[in-house]
Amino acid sequence: MNNIDYDLIIIGGGPAGLTAGLYASRARLKTLLIEKAVLGGQVITTDWVENYPGFPEGISGYDLGQRMSEQAQRFGLQIKNDTIETVTVDGDVKTVRLAGEDFSCQTIIIATGASPRKLGIPGERNFFGKGISTCATCDAPFYKDKVVAAIGGGDTAVKESLYLTRFARKVYLIHRRDELRATRILQERVFESDKVEMIWDTIAVRFAGLFGMDTVTLQNVKNGEERDLKVDGCFVWVGVEPNTAFLDGVVAVDEKGFIITNEKMETSVPGVYAVGDARNTSMRQIAAAVGDAAIAAGSVEAYLEHAG
Ligand code: NAP
Repeated sequence: MNNIDYDLIIIGGGPAGLTAGLYASRARLKTLLIEKAVLGGQVITTDWVENYPGFPEGISGYDLGQRMSEQAQRFGLQIKNDTIETVTVDGDVKTVRLAGEDFSCQTIIIATGASPRKLGIPGERNFFGKGISTCATCDAPFYKDKVVAAIGGGDTAVKESLYLTRFARKVYLIHRRDELRATRILQERVFESDKVEMIWDTIAVRFAGLFGMDTVTLQNVKNGEERDLKVDGCFVWVGVEPNTAFLDGVVAVDEKGFIITNEKMETSVPGVYAVGDARNTSMRQIAAAVGDAAIAAGSVEAYLEHAG
């Protein structure tokens, strides 16, 4: 197809998108990666990554993101920093619309990842950025010797609470059940910390404060009792939601908006693939995301060969 701009457009520049870019560039596909923010994705807000193979001592999330981006660009991947407005599919031709320009392509890999989910309780929106955060590496230094709350029981809440202990005098970790979801090694570490106090069977019901957020009202889910907890800040880590709204029904998604794929990373639309945290995977890990991307790049090659 001579009048098509690219063989492949990759949407999103986190580990999944950059890995897809690396493979596609090495396969000499004419590829454009579009990222709306900073290359590296969510991983760059992770202080330390110690479960990505090849780094026995661990590596900072920022450095890992940088390295992945350097590696992909070394093989000629084109990268554009822009926000996608729409994606349309007209048979074999897909069009990605940015503000002011359109790019056509034969295939698309969606690697837009996921963002922290909100609690949706009163005060959360008002105080976001004024005492409520979802990024410990960005905001933890503001809480030196202060008291903070963290909400959630998964890997993010536990890992990031441990990071908070480097700054805060005390961290209340508030979880809605009496057992953490996080992986065992993180649980062991958090239970060993003398700065973290667990508050079990409890949810946050509202945030309040005069200038910034200074009070989180908690409710015990077993007896319904409410109490106010005075804190200097609160971090909300209650899972993620997919960055897929811009697709507006182009591909099939599950009830939570994650893109449905098969084992070849194919979506419901031929020539459109999804990888990493944006798809309906049970494993939201960097290693899983890069694995998805390698598979998707192979599927793209096979599709293009078939399409001629
Ligand atoms: P997650 O695994 O989905 O855990 C979300 C946590 O928030 C759960 O403990 C959940 O409670 C709780 N929660 C959900 N909605 C809530 C609400 N409305 N009120 C109170 N609590 C609520 O999310 P995540 O920790 O952000 O992790 C996302 C993915 O990234 C996971 O696959 C995780 O393994 C991965 N990850 C891995 C690492 C790593 O170091 N390997 C680090 C970060 C993230 P329940 O337990 O009761 O459901």
